[in-house]
Amino acid sequence: MSWSTTWGNSTLTDANAPGLRPVADVPPALAQYDAFTAALGGRTPAIFLDYDGTLTPIVARPELAVMSEVSRATVDALARKLPVAVVSGRDRPDVQKLVGIDSLIFAGSHGFDIHVPGREVMGSEIIDTYTPVLDRVDARLHEVLDPIKGALVERKKFSIAAHYRLVSDDDYPRFRAALDQVEAEAPELKEKLGKKVFELQPKIDWDKGKCVLHLLQVLGLEGDAYVPMFFGDDVTDEDAFRELQGRGVTVICAEPEADLARKTYATFRVDTVDEVIQLLRRMTP
Ligand SMILES: [Mg+2]
Repeated sequence: MSWSTTWGNSTLTDANAPGLRPVADVPPALAQYDAFTAALGGRTPAIFLDYDGTLTPIVARPELAVMSEVSRATVDALARKLPVAVVSGRDRPDVQKLVGIDSLIFAGSHGFDIHVPGREVMGSEIIDTYTPVLDRVDARLHEVLDPIKGALVERKKFSIAAHYRLVSDDDYPRFRAALDQVEAEAPELKEKLGKKVFELQPKIDWDKGKCVLHLLQVLGLEGDAYVPMFFGDDVTDEDAFRELQGRGVTVICAEPEADLARKTYATFRVDTVDEVIQLLRRMTP
């Protein structure tokens, strides 16, 4: 499966914002491990992990993204020593099942749906008011996208993903035009770009970055003794990288060669999912 991605309609609207730099200019965490350790400053890491493209390679269909036993054992060992949360665009029960480690904190739907072991699920009641709109848009997307070969509509609890990884270049303009048409009918939703997927979410001010800040507060991890860390690969992870600028240490999983134009807020980089796991293993106390 190809790692190459297109970022044509990036949600990074201000390409010259402070802190943004090309992925190639971001120091590699493994090759510069001393600098990486220095950045942690002896503080206890509070670790936030994306799932797809970070703990598992990107695959053609979402249900095929299975975590390797080595990855699972690494995250499990880490979570026995440090606070570890998985923050994913997937529905929370879906990513919980895929990761299969009950002791972790899970935030699904880009941080809208949070579960901390031993506590109530922290869902947002506001989100539930969007269910009728999401139902309507889901039906419309099936109407306009099902006839396009390779297009895949994935209904999640708090969003709808329109995947185009399997849509041919010839059919893509039709796919995009159909999506534009449905989006024009649903001003209550906003579009987020992912890897070969457009995700329609409630138009409210919440994202992975806000979710991480919220969790740090809820879990009592805001003090100077902790260093928040976020590992991610996708554009939606940039919200967390940006929020943690100057405060945490963030790691992007991206090969600089895959997209020379891509800019990131991340502090360090690794090139592959294997390197994410290597780094996590090395960090485990
Ligand atoms: Mg990802």
